[in-house]
Amino acid sequence: MLNISGLQEGVVLDHIQAGKSLDIYYHLGLDRLTDCQVAIIKNARSNKMGRKDIIKVEGPIDNIDLDVLGYIDHNITVNVIRDNKITEKKALKLPKKITNVIRCKNPRCITSIEQELPHIFYLADEKTETYRCMYCEEKYGKSK
Ligand SMILES: [Zn+2]
Repeated sequence: MLNISGLQEGVVLDHIQAGKSLDIYYHLGLDRLTDCQVAIIKNARSNKMGRKDIIKVEGPIDNIDLDVLGYIDHNITVNVIRDNKITEKKALKLPKKITNVIRCKNPRCITSIEQELPHIFYLADEKTETYRCMYCEEKYGKSK
């Protein structure tokens, strides 16, 4: 049973691969949340995974970009907490489109020239988790 004590309303990200919690913390921009508590638990014991990381974020689910999270690792469990209870578990999936999460590395891509353009990638192949740049089709394979 996940210990959610001290969290009246919030989100618990469970089953994060051990060692990945800080990456996720920064990718989700949790360092920019100034008025809610964030707790990171590293190397928690897990029956399923051996060791895992957990992130607890106080406040509404809107604080978390589920597309970004789904892109990073869709095996993470998202628990929504209300009144000290888990009220909902959300399943993550690979997002169809991601904006400003990864950057196109093609030097001839328009995003290299026009700095203000958002970096938009779309899911080109779900099996291999391959994304392609919306502008130049440059491939971005997820390293696993
Ligand atoms: Zn590109």
